[in-house]
Amino acid sequence: MRIFAATLATETNTFSPLPTSLAAYKELAFFRPGEHPDDAPRMCTAPLFVARRRAAHDGFTLLEGSCFAASPAGITNRADYEAMRDEIVGQLQAAMPLDAVLLGLHGAMVAHGYDDVEGDIVERVRAIAGPKCVIGVELDPHCHLTLKRVRLADIIVLYKEFPHTDVVDRAHDLIDLTLATLRGRIRPTMSLYDCRQIQSYPTTLPLMRGFVDRIKALEGKDGIVSVSIGHCFPYADVPELSARVLVIADGDKAKADALAIRLGEELVSMRGKTMPQFYDVAGGVAAALASNEAPVVVAEPSDNAGGGAPSDNTSILRELVARGAKSAALGPIWDPIAVRLCFDAGLGAVIPLRIGGKIGPTSGVPLDAMATVTGLAREAWQSFGPTRVPLGDCAAVQVGGVEVALITKRTQALGLELFTNLGIDPRAKKVVVVKSTNHFMAAFGPIAKQVLYIDSDGPLSRDYRKVPYRNVRRPIWPLDEDTTPGLIL
Ligand SMILES: [Zn+2]
Repeated sequence: MRIFAATLATETNTFSPLPTSLAAYKELAFFRPGEHPDDAPRMCTAPLFVARRRAAHDGFTLLEGSCFAASPAGITNRADYEAMRDEIVGQLQAAMPLDAVLLGLHGAMVAHGYDDVEGDIVERVRAIAGPKCVIGVELDPHCHLTLKRVRLADIIVLYKEFPHTDVVDRAHDLIDLTLATLRGRIRPTMSLYDCRQIQSYPTTLPLMRGFVDRIKALEGKDGIVSVSIGHCFPYADVPELSARVLVIADGDKAKADALAIRLGEELVSMRGKTMPQFYDVAGGVAAALASNEAPVVVAEPSDNAGGGAPSDNTSILRELVARGAKSAALGPIWDPIAVRLCFDAGLGAVIPLRIGGKIGPTSGVPLDAMATVTGLAREAWQSFGPTRVPLGDCAAVQVGGVEVALITKRTQALGLELFTNLGIDPRAKKVVVVKSTNHFMAAFGPIAKQVLYIDSDGPLSRDYRKVPYRNVRRPIWPLDEDTTPGLIL
């Protein structure tokens, strides 16, 4: 058996002021065939990474394509997208004949001229690989499960957990199902239910936790092969933005339909119930400082680089300093210029520093302060579950009683290394502020005595009615009250 694997991935915030070009892919993951490291998968590369480990044991030949992935930001440059896509498609062509293709995609990538990048990729792969080739795709749940890609692929598996700690487990699922299909043990048939809603679904909160646990228990029984919940990525102005439920059954479309409808209706009934409560900046900082617990972990989803935000808003930092907070840490603030100045000043230096507030109106105003350089680290990284995420050169500065982690490779707070690389121990702090929506919970949840959420003036408002959509198909909740959810495939 000959199986080809490749990755082309980012999550596109179409409202972000940060364009995405080849440089952003080179910064995060840019591997030609055979170059992918053996230590851990990078963003969305788990299908290739896992296939490499399984090939000999499972009796297939892996043909490696390129793996390209960029941190979430704005729309990808058209020429750069087409060049990366055509490179992979060319490798695929050269690798023919193939029995299967494994694609590690994100699912919410937009390039100039392409609203549905993954649909475009799967369409080109299908055109070359032919109708009999099994196309298996792993996607992030923050994807747009478009009709085009579901019609053209044979098997689509999404991560179930948010935070996405099951990227490798789901890649194993994808490969299991692909091999079972190739060996004639299953005949996958997919059904898709559109919930007509925009919402966030952290699986660390009880309602979604229970839902996902029940879904897992359904798989592998009674002809149900796989169930995926597409959360959608709310900061994308694309027509098919919406939460969708995907069910794969073994040869029995009616069975897949029935379960997709049942679970889809259940997800519709959860509208408004799956997100945590949010404080404003003043209220959240006051609550954190007043808490008797330590550390209190305060999340700022509205400036989450993982959703395409610049991660340089200073509103919470400003509030902490103004209130004279002691024993606080905050990060990451993406500010390559400030990091450069800190390296030039040297460890222990006290310098006038302009922090954050640089990229756009939603970055707020910068914080100007006398800052002590308390930590410096070259080419640092943080872990996220089984994956590694680069932070670039980093600096820690102390402003009043607040230590700030400044980074050069834009990403969200995922691993404790964000702070410990710089000599900051988040466990010993009273308050730890993390720019992240929910992925921080994988590492910071276990050390947090209390978790609070602040909806700041960063660009990713938690009230989706404030997002200036123009292309999203209506009606959709919560922009509209009356919607018509239902089976669409
Ligand atoms: Zn995601």
